[in-house]
Amino acid sequence: MGKTFTSDRLPPMSTGPNIPQELRLVTSIPGPKSQEIIKRRNEAVSASLGMAIPVVVEKAGGGVIVDVDGNSIIDMGAGIAVVNVGNSADRVVENVINQVKAFTHTCFMIAPYLGYIEVCEALNRLTPGTHKKKSVLLNSGAEAVENAIKIARAYTKRQAVVVFEHGYHGRTNLTMAMTAKNMPYKEGFGPFASEIYRMPMAYPFRFNGDAATCASETLDVVTHKIEKEIGAKNVAAIVIEPIQGEGGFIVPPKGFLPGLAKFAKDNGIVFVADEVQTGFGRTGKMFAVEHESVDADLITTAKGIAGGFPLAGVTGRAEMLDSVHASGLGGTFGGNPVACAAALGAIATIEEEKLVDRANAIGKIMVDALTAMAKKYPVIGEIRGAGAMQAIELVKPGTIEPNNEAMSAVIKYCQQKGVLILSAGTYANVVRLLPPLVMPEHLLNQALGIIDEAFASL
Ligand SMILES: *Cc1c(COP(=O)(O)O)cnc(C)c1O
Repeated sequence: MGKTFTSDRLPPMSTGPNIPQELRLVTSIPGPKSQEIIKRRNEAVSASLGMAIPVVVEKAGGGVIVDVDGNSIIDMGAGIAVVNVGNSADRVVENVINQVKAFTHTCFMIAPYLGYIEVCEALNRLTPGTHKKKSVLLNSGAEAVENAIKIARAYTKRQAVVVFEHGYHGRTNLTMAMTAKNMPYKEGFGPFASEIYRMPMAYPFRFNGDAATCASETLDVVTHKIEKEIGAKNVAAIVIEPIQGEGGFIVPPKGFLPGLAKFAKDNGIVFVADEVQTGFGRTGKMFAVEHESVDADLITTAKGIAGGFPLAGVTGRAEMLDSVHASGLGGTFGGNPVACAAALGAIATIEEEKLVDRANAIGKIMVDALTAMAKKYPVIGEIRGAGAMQAIELVKPGTIEPNNEAMSAVIKYCQQKGVLILSAGTYANVVRLLPPLVMPEHLLNQALGIIDEAFASL
């Protein structure tokens, strides 16, 4: 049996709906009721959609998802870093109920309402930098990225967009072009948008040399390619995730992001930090660019913004947001009043419950446990991340060759034992851990113990 990691570092806190915070398996996974409903799913729903775990959800809150068979599963994915405040967090529920009773839609472009303005005020206040900021609200992360590009092009009157290997920015046509990985995101969906240029990414684990050299050499290559192949004066925006999410939680080595931001500034290029996955406390700062005090002109947000409601934002320099002609940005549903009410509840939860500190405490517990596993199990190539966003890159022992089979086996083992963990990585060899920031400590330790068992079982 694997080891149970014990510590006493996370203060107890409210976990939303009154669901016992326990791992409880009453059937095998999937249970009979889930199997029945998944049959209907397969009949009714497009076969193109993935399913990380074959259980049908009945309710969720705190650190658990409860399925229709009564299994209570530890949630180490938070709906892909969305329910940072937990499912049905108290303040989110209360705000949503009040808003639903008042009105559900007017369209902000038709008749404005306070919630939208207050979310923009909160984004302007919470994103780093003392410069005058403004925001616009949209429906999804991809839509936020698209709007950041519109703003950067309108502001600079240039067209080219620089993105990075291993980057993920969404599934719409423009963001597919920006996303690096072909399968499953792009295969067969072209032609893609033009004027997108992909640069090498500083990926220390796969760089032959130390982190500082990785940062400086990659930066040299990127700036050289931009100058010689695109022309710096043609570039509207450099778009990068401060820690790459879908790409496998690739943390750029110190100096890489500030170097890029400086190059952007020196060349009149808009520097866009895509914080859709890293934002709202996830990495142990409110926004991940704060780890290196990176000066981003625009920040895109979505996932963790509203406790599970579809909402996204672009926040940044007022002169950039205001450079677009009147009525140039918008959309029917963007900044829906119920989603805004949810966001205000989620943001209040993050601030009042000090979830940024809690992300750091969760991170320490995870890193301690994962580092101990890395010493025991040679399939673990690297542990990396920041705060409550930690990944395990799996390799063929003694090499850096990706080990997809080990990743699949670990995920499958954990599912059978009632722990939901997610995959990532260009080479599909990364396990990513993204627990809700309200995760109770005993469940976090129990999940880490089961992950340890999963490696032992390989
Ligand atoms: C998920 C994600 C997106 C796309 O967000 P959607 O809401 O799925 O459109 C964009 N950028 C990053 C970094 C993401 O993680």
